[in-house]
Amino acid sequence: MAEQGNVIIIGAGPAGTVAAALLQNRGHRVTIIERDAFPRFSIGESLLPQCMEFIQQAGMLDAVKAAGFQLKSGAVFIDNDKYSDFCFSDKFSKGFDSTFQVQRDQFDLLLANEAQRMGAEIRWRQELIAADFSGEKPLLTIKQANGKSYQIEASFVLDASGFGRVLPRLLHLEKKSEFPDRQSLFTHIEDRIDSAQYDRNKIRIIVHPEHRDVWYWLIPFSNGRSSIGVVAEPGFFQTLGSDHRQIFQLLIKQESSLASLLKNAVFDRKINNINGYSADVTTLHGDGFALLGNAGEFLDPVFSSGVTIAMKSASLAADVLDRQLNQQKVNWQKEFADPLQVGVETFRTFVTAWYEGGLQDVVFYGQQQANIKQMICSILAGYVWDEENPYVKNSRPRLSTLAELCKE
Ligand SMILES: Cc1cc2nc3c(=O)[nH]c(=O)nc-3n(C[C@H](O)[C@H](O)[C@H](O)COP(=O)(O)OP(=O)(O)OC[C@H]3O[C@@H](n4cnc5c(N)ncnc54)[C@H](O)[C@@H]3O)c2cc1C
Repeated sequence: MAEQGNVIIIGAGPAGTVAAALLQNRGHRVTIIERDAFPRFSIGESLLPQCMEFIQQAGMLDAVKAAGFQLKSGAVFIDNDKYSDFCFSDKFSKGFDSTFQVQRDQFDLLLANEAQRMGAEIRWRQELIAADFSGEKPLLTIKQANGKSYQIEASFVLDASGFGRVLPRLLHLEKKSEFPDRQSLFTHIEDRIDSAQYDRNKIRIIVHPEHRDVWYWLIPFSNGRSSIGVVAEPGFFQTLGSDHRQIFQLLIKQESSLASLLKNAVFDRKINNINGYSADVTTLHGDGFALLGNAGEFLDPVFSSGVTIAMKSASLAADVLDRQLNQQKVNWQKEFADPLQVGVETFRTFVTAWYEGGLQDVVFYGQQQANIKQMICSILAGYVWDEENPYVKNSRPRLSTLAELCKE
C-alpha cells in the first residue's frame, strides 16, 4: 500500500525549498525528496536583486542576510579596453538594489534548513525514479540510499529537480533548446586579488579579446575566494586541446585584465566541465504536476538568471497550487506558465542579442542616455517581469533598434 503524502516536491535546490516554504506558510503539508545529502556543490552563484523578493516572500530574508555572503551591487562588463559599469541602485524598476554572491553549497543548505524550520519534511538521499499520473492521484516511486524503493501518493507534484529534469525525462516532455550547445569550464580559486584594484561587490563579465561569443565570469565571495568560469561553443575548446586545466589557464592568460587581477591566484580545485546545459520542455504543467526552475527551461548562464527564474516559478506555482488545494478553479497555463514566460522571453531576447553581438554594442556604448541605461540595468537586476519597462514589454524590437543605434 502506497504511503499517503500531500504535496511532493522533487529536489531541494532554490526552486524546491522556496516553493516548500511558501506552501508550508499557507498551511499545506510538503515533503521534499532530495537525491543528494547537503551541503553539495552546485553552480549558479551570482544572484539577482529580483530574487530577493522571492526569498522575502518565503520568509527567508533574515537568514540569508545574516549568513555573511558577499554583497552584490552591480555588474561590470569588459571587452579589451572597453569597460562598462552597472549599479543596481540606478535602475528603472522599483525593488531591491542589491543581492549576494553565494557559495551554493552553503546557500542551498541554508534555504533547506529554513524550509525545514517552516515545517517541510526533507527526505535526503532519496531519488524519484518513476511516476504514474494515470490514476486519481500521482503515484511516485522513490529509491532510498540503501537501494530499496517505496511508493508515495501525492496530492500534487512539483518537479524542482534542476538539471536532473526527472519528470521531463520520465514523461517524455523534453524539447531541444533553440540555443546551440555551449560548454563551460569553471572552478573556485583563492583569488588573492589586490582589493585596491577591484570592487568585490560586482560580478565581472569579460568578453574574450578576439572571440565575441566567448566570455568569462568572475564572481568574488566574501572569504577571499572567487568563482571563475569561461563559456564557449564546444568546438572552440576543442581547438585548444583536451586538458581542461591547460585550456583554462591559457584562456585566462589571453585576457589581460583577468591575467593581471589573478596573477597571484591559487588554482587549488579541479576544473569542472558542463556541456549542453540549455534545455526546454513541451509543457510546464500537466494533470497533477508542474515543472519549476531548471526542470522546465534553462536558457544560458550569461545574465545569472537561473536562480531568479527558479524562484519566480516557485512563487507562481505556490500561488496557483494553494488555490487549487483550497478547491478553487485554477488555470495553470494562464496563471503559471504564461506569466513565467514574460520574464523568460525577456531574458531570451537579451541572451540571443548577447551572442549575436548587438547587446554588447549596447552595453559598451559610451553615450547611453541615462533612462535607457536604467531600463537595461533593471533587466540585468532580474526585473524582467516589470511590464512598465519598455525593454520587457517589447523587448525584441526595442533592443534591436537600440543595438542598431549604438552600432552606428
Ligand atoms: C555554467 C553555469 C553557470 C551558472 N551561473 C549562474 C549564476 O551565476 N546565477 C544563477 O542564478 N544561475 C546560474 N546558473 C543556473 C543555475 O545553476 C540554475 O538555474 C539553478 O541552480 C536552478 O535551480 P533549481 O532549484 O531549478 O535546480 P537545482 O539547483 O539544480 O536543484 C535541483 C535539486 O534536485 C535534486 N534532484 C535531481 N534529480 C533528482 C531526483 N530524481 N530525485 C530527487 N532529487 C533530485 C538535485 O540533487 C538538486 O539538489 C548557471 C548554470 C550554468 C550551467
